[in-house]
Amino acid sequence: MKRKEVVLATRNEGKLREFKRILESFNIDLLSLKAFPDIPEIVEDGSTFEENALKKALTVASSTKRIAIADDSGLMVDYLEGKPGVMSARYAGENAGDKDNYIKLLKILRGVPDHLRTASFKCALAVATPEEKHDVVTGECSGIITHEPRGNAGFGYDPVFYYPEYGKTFAELEPEMKDSVSHRRRAIEKLLLILPRYLEQEG
Ligand code: IMP
Repeated sequence: MKRKEVVLATRNEGKLREFKRILESFNIDLLSLKAFPDIPEIVEDGSTFEENALKKALTVASSTKRIAIADDSGLMVDYLEGKPGVMSARYAGENAGDKDNYIKLLKILRGVPDHLRTASFKCALAVATPEEKHDVVTGECSGIITHEPRGNAGFGYDPVFYYPEYGKTFAELEPEMKDSVSHRRRAIEKLLLILPRYLEQEG
């Protein structure tokens, strides 16, 4: 069967790696936005992950004339009423790096006891066609924010996201262990139930 090209609407290498690993066994060639350098930066100005993911998928599908998948994800800390949420990537400022963001979070949570440090990662995934057919699915994963960063794997807030079932932060886990339980994995599993309908229509 002919492999299908699907564009993943991201320039984030960490996300692309995770998607490739999880989608490895499917008959899909996953292209990143690097293959389409002319597509301008898409402003993530929605108030929900779902809105942002859909905006990215629709824009990229229309510009590339291919099926596009977009991910919008982030961390929601209960004590901070869901923050940093859609601002996760820019929590410590527009040009902040992953470390700046989690250091800011640890500072804000300084002195907050463990039982109030609950948090969840959420991932919204949108799929869209150039004809604007679309769907959005979500996945979540619960954990606890640590007091100090631990581990070197993963990206983003992984070093401060403790996953109680495994007794480790996401950054201390083997990538495959993180993939098996992550918010992204859970959203991808839902996406895979509907993706065949999109691919079949693509000739
Ligand atoms: P987005 O590119 O707007 O979706 O930003 C997502 C941001 O949320 C990332 O830059 C990370 O800071 C955070 N994030 C999302 N998923 C993960 C994850 O799996 N691990 C750690 N941080 C994540």
